[in-house]
Amino acid sequence: MDNLILVNRFLAVASLVLALSACGGSSSQVDANKTQITVAASFYPIEEIVRKVGGTHVNVVELTPAGQGAHDVQLTAKQLTVLSTSSAVFYISDGFQPEVEKAVASLPGSVVPVDLLQSVTLLDVVAQLDGTEGETDGEVLASGKDPHVWLDPANMIAMTTAVADALSQLSPEFATQFNAAAQSFIAELQTLGNEIDAQLANCESRVLVTSHRAFAYLAKRANIRQVAIAGVNPEEEPSAKSLEAIASFARANKVSTIFFETLLPADLAKTLADKVGATPDLLDPVEGISSADIAGGASYISIQRDNLSRLVKGLRCS
Ligand SMILES: [Zn+2]
Repeated sequence: MDNLILVNRFLAVASLVLALSACGGSSSQVDANKTQITVAASFYPIEEIVRKVGGTHVNVVELTPAGQGAHDVQLTAKQLTVLSTSSAVFYISDGFQPEVEKAVASLPGSVVPVDLLQSVTLLDVVAQLDGTEGETDGEVLASGKDPHVWLDPANMIAMTTAVADALSQLSPEFATQFNAAAQSFIAELQTLGNEIDAQLANCESRVLVTSHRAFAYLAKRANIRQVAIAGVNPEEEPSAKSLEAIASFARANKVSTIFFETLLPADLAKTLADKVGATPDLLDPVEGISSADIAGGASYISIQRDNLSRLVKGLRCS
């Protein structure tokens, strides 16, 4: 008896859905409970784009867990299973995440691979500062190009458009919503881009010295020169030769701040101030996002605004 009532209810709901979809058209008539498509996003900035554009109509699975590095991510068996049953995977090719690319290469034809590098123009990787020795922090694509495209909001805009196009093809019934959501995120990215252009227009130094050569795209946009140093990081004792090379470069180019990805130990920060005449500050390459940042409500836009205010201070912009 109960079963029969359930069946009747199901039929009633089903015919209501049919009636609604027969009307077609306006968004208020689209069944909000329609099964979502599931798509995978390979690391944080891409995940944010897909979530923003997809809204409630797309279930996003992230392949790089919060707090982990994008480059050397390993996929679990569970992630591989979810990936192979997804509608699409959004990623960056050219060797940035070798494990993701390996998985993408063996996916069934039902999973649409969307390589977002195809929507942007790549820059060459800068050489490290002459005279600095040791490890240089910064991934390089298999082609020798620089992977950090997302740090220029203009590239985020191009990738957002590509995501909206791909999702609209996968779920044409929500194309209007995807495009509207994309436009609103693009407007935020344009505002961020305008802030970068305005606030970095007049700076006493136009040289961004960094231990992680992640900022080529941002620097190019702002007409600033990125200089990558090797051998100075929280895990490595810098050589006297490296310090001397950085010091003479800093003197010649009025560099007062050197940017790092993580806090330096206090003694290394003091060594830089004493021997190089520059103080360390932080820049976030937004290659991932920490659980703490997520909990604090951080986003690509807020992290980039924080980067911008540190650059304004470190390059002495007015
Ligand atoms: Zn990097």
